[in-house]
Amino acid sequence: MNIIEVKNLSYSYQHFDDEGNLIESAPALLEINLDIPKGQFVAVLGHNGSGKSTLAKHLNGILKPTKGGVCVNKMDVNDETLIYDIRQTVGMVFQNPDNQIVASTVEEDVAFAPENLGLEPKEIRLRIDKAMKTVGIYEFRRHAPHRLSGGQKQRVAIAGVIAMEPECLVLDEITAMLDPKGRKEIMNTVEKLNREKGITVILITHYMEEAVNSDRVLVMDKGRIIMDGTPKQIFSRVETLKNVGLDVPPVTELMHLLSQSGLKVKNDVINEEECVEELLRLTELYKPTN
Ligand code: ADP
Ligand code: MG
Repeated sequence: MNIIEVKNLSYSYQHFDDEGNLIESAPALLEINLDIPKGQFVAVLGHNGSGKSTLAKHLNGILKPTKGGVCVNKMDVNDETLIYDIRQTVGMVFQNPDNQIVASTVEEDVAFAPENLGLEPKEIRLRIDKAMKTVGIYEFRRHAPHRLSGGQKQRVAIAGVIAMEPECLVLDEITAMLDPKGRKEIMNTVEKLNREKGITVILITHYMEEAVNSDRVLVMDKGRIIMDGTPKQIFSRVETLKNVGLDVPPVTELMHLLSQSGLKVKNDVINEEECVEELLRLTELYKPTN
């Protein structure tokens, strides 16, 4: 069953002058078709301005299609009476953790969204404790969020969203402002939510290595989805990716360079283990014989 269904979605940002006349209509999404099954971990890649955030904002009704449609669990985002259910089904986290902090302690911050759901105080308590434990910030629950590291703050933001118990998370470059340690913490947290809780994850990122373990990779360019496949299928197309301004994971790049220099290497190496294996195989293969 699909949790997200996008059909022929086009979107243009419209600019009006002071009198309300349309002066510009800039297309940002063109004819997007996309079905995402429940539980899938989808990474979305694309150069700046390719339309990733615009697409993300359609998935919980922040933006409405100019043309075409978007459904979340069969609920149409154009139907205003469903928007509350849609926002509860799809939780979004954005790039800057500081913009997402609303309270003076971690637990109040995490409680903010579920409190607005009108749940019983006992239920709220249970949910926020569970959410804080899930993302590993329970021990900081009485701390001030702004004193935490970037990775910890982003985990507070994720806890606030998962306390709503969404079925799907849309994460828009949530590691972009973090150091490598913070990025690792966040990726571990997100992968765990997908694996153990079955939460569908749509992860927008410009770090190729964050896409390597996903079920599916989408590549966007100029408002369209131009590639859709497994990480191996996508990253083995090094030249196509470079043409749209993207890199490949460093180990894939290494293999690509070796291949260009004439060595017979696999072209679908995407992680360190496979890279080590392939280098060992090459060492054997090209061993001088005497
Ligand atoms: P990405 O997230 O891949 O960087 P965006 O979805 O933010 O891409 O942007 C897609 C296109 O829409 C770009 O050309 C961008 O300049 C334009 N755009 C984004 N937000 C707005 C906005 N609020 N008003 C006008 N144009 C916008
Ligand atoms: Mg963006």
